Amino acid sequence: MSRWGADKVVSKGRELRPFMLMVETTSGQRRDTARAVIDASGTWQTPNPLGVGGLSAEGESEFRDRIGYGIPDVLGRDRDLYAGRTTLVAGAGHSAANALLELANLSESAPDTSAIWTTRSTDLVRIYGGGDADALPARGELGSEVKDLAESGRVRLVTGFATTAIREVGGRLLVDGQTKDGVLTIGPVDRIIAATGQRPDLVLTRELRLDLDPWLESVKALGPLIDPNEHSCGDVPPHGHRELSHPEPGFYTVGIKSYGRAPTFLLLTGYEQVRSVAAAIAGDMAAADAVQLVLPETGVCTVPASFSGSASKGCCGGPAAEAVDACCVADAQAKEGGKAGCGCSAAA
Ligand SMILES: Cc1cc2nc3c(=O)[nH]c(=O)nc-3n(C[C@H](O)[C@H](O)[C@H](O)COP(=O)(O)OP(=O)(O)OC[C@H]3O[C@@H](n4cnc5c(N)ncnc54)[C@H](O)[C@@H]3O)c2cc1C
Repeated sequence: MSRWGADKVVSKGRELRPFMLMVETTSGQRRDTARAVIDASGTWQTPNPLGVGGLSAEGESEFRDRIGYGIPDVLGRDRDLYAGRTTLVAGAGHSAANALLELANLSESAPDTSAIWTTRSTDLVRIYGGGDADALPARGELGSEVKDLAESGRVRLVTGFATTAIREVGGRLLVDGQTKDGVLTIGPVDRIIAATGQRPDLVLTRELRLDLDPWLESVKALGPLIDPNEHSCGDVPPHGHRELSHPEPGFYTVGIKSYGRAPTFLLLTGYEQVRSVAAAIAGDMAAADAVQLVLPETGVCTVPASFSGSASKGCCGGPAAEAVDACCVADAQAKEGGKAGCGCSAAA
């Protein structure tokens, strides 16, 4: 994508030029023009590598054929790759949980199937989730089930493991990782599932003037509201075409790509984003600005100490009313509903 006849550097008359889209088709390449562009290309095709520090681990590309990124179809198309084999699953998100539960399911019909679970973090509170406090019951259940799997010993869990290298010994794989006690080697295993998240493909928009959050690579305005270093509630204030636009007039990023590397995007957010952006492009600014969004919270709202008691609207719905015995709006609502609380805690 570019502006017709103008690369990224050219400023003069930029906004008057249409976008130029280079489109690959089965009958060759085509150049289309467009008045506006909505980038909804997702992040699924650009998974994060297994290696620590965002770079491939040593041996990761060499043994690529034995690594499944994201969530392989363990019970369907990829069954034969995993049945009766030992798989190392890396990651501490819902993708890892899905893969582990499917491997456990597979072991019921293929008994020699086993899994080892490694996480870089030592704190699994986010993946174990809020259980009954999660406003999305299926998400809460996923966390509770994977917790049972690890605590029952059906899956060997190694936390605080940062993958650095993959080696082959006797036709199987050994995986090295840095831990607080030095290098630990796990294996041998037959396959690896790298459920280590996704990142946006920024090559597509290289010739356009985008404003992105420096580390999340999300649209800039959303960065501070969804930063996983600070938020785990799954909540985000209503937002629309204004937050999703860029210095490049007529260009918008929507969907999971608008969240960049942040892991908490929900379809509900995307529907409202797209409605607002479509209204703005159609010139109906009243509809475009009337954004409404109430998201189901995770029930595990970890707020950094610097946020506690602040007027932040980005997490847990902001602070609770002063007269209420609760740390935030989500906590007050949970208590009103007869629960012990939302699970909020101030991070050390
Ligand atoms: C494992 C996982 C589970 C999730 N589960 C849920 C859930 O249960 N509920 C929920 O609300 N959200 C869930 N999400 C979050 C999110 O809602 C989904 O990822 C959702 O699919 C995002 O929609 P999207 O349209 O932004 O991106 P995608 O669904 O990834 O769609 C992007 C599309 O763009 C296409 N594309 C890419 N590049 C180009 C290009 N250059 N030209 C043309 N087309 C291109 C792709 O082929 C794809 O079809 C989940 C996310 C993940 C990763």
